[in-house]
Amino acid sequence: MKYADLHIHTIYSDSTATATDVVARSVKEGLSAISITDHDTVEGIPSAVEEGNNHGLEVIPGIEMTSEIDNREIHILGYFVDINHPFFLKKLEELKQIRIDRIYKMIEKLKELGITNLSAQEVIDFSGEGAVGRVHLATMLQKKGWVYSVSEAFYRYLGDDCPAYVSKFKFSPEEIVGIIAKATGVPVLAHPHIYPTSELEQFIASLADAGLRGLEIYYPGYSEKLTETYRGLADKFGLLCTGGSDDHGSAKEKSVIGKVKIPYECVEALKQDKCQKENTT
Ligand code: AMP
Ligand code: ZN
Ligand code: FE
Ligand code: FE
Repeated sequence: MKYADLHIHTIYSDSTATATDVVARSVKEGLSAISITDHDTVEGIPSAVEEGNNHGLEVIPGIEMTSEIDNREIHILGYFVDINHPFFLKKLEELKQIRIDRIYKMIEKLKELGITNLSAQEVIDFSGEGAVGRVHLATMLQKKGWVYSVSEAFYRYLGDDCPAYVSKFKFSPEEIVGIIAKATGVPVLAHPHIYPTSELEQFIASLADAGLRGLEIYYPGYSEKLTETYRGLADKFGLLCTGGSDDHGSAKEKSVIGKVKIPYECVEALKQDKCQKENTT
């Protein structure tokens, strides 16, 4: 049997793991394919593909894009996106700048709460290349001794309902599905458990109408029963099934490469879907 992990972050978004580290751990876990799905950026893809080539590991270009509905974040994964697509790159540049502006706004809010010894530039510098986000800010708050852990930073300051939270983009999930499709990617709804169960079916129905092609049914902590429930929903709406660990290196220790291994047939189905789309467009 061949296995894959289709949800992995790197230092280009908010993981502590480099492509070298991700590829080494994936090979050690016996995986045949992985996808790098950084938040709102594809800057980490070329080096990860090269690293994969050097170690006989298939690295699929991916992204995890942020959308918002009722002030709640909904993440949409995009597989086999064209990382050189001019429209897509322009959109991602806009998102990168919005993320930078947002860090300045969050730092202002933190100042009002008495946290005065942390600058936006420090957080941006700490984040390095790619997309800056709340995990970077949370880590800096920890480094400066304001909180004991990243999760404390989230529940005290940075979580969606917390005093220093600033939202990023007002794109609807449907718009994001459209952006990924335009970049010739296959759009997939990430970790559906974050959505209220009573509304999930209706939500998936409307996203399927907008061009959604898959559902992430394998995810750390999902019981077999939950995975089967999601598989039922995927079948009902003609969606592919995907999954992965959502590895963030040491930034999120509960989600690590190896925790979720999905059948390689899922990758073949994604490729098939992309081919069919190419034939029809
Ligand atoms: P951002 O894209 O900047 O809004 O940050 C999103 C990241 O924050 C994702 O990787 C989430 O997993 C992470 N995140 C959201 N809520 C929490 C939390 N309560 N504890 C730790 N990480 C979180
Ligand atoms: Zn993340
Ligand atoms: Fe996510
Ligand atoms: Fe993720």
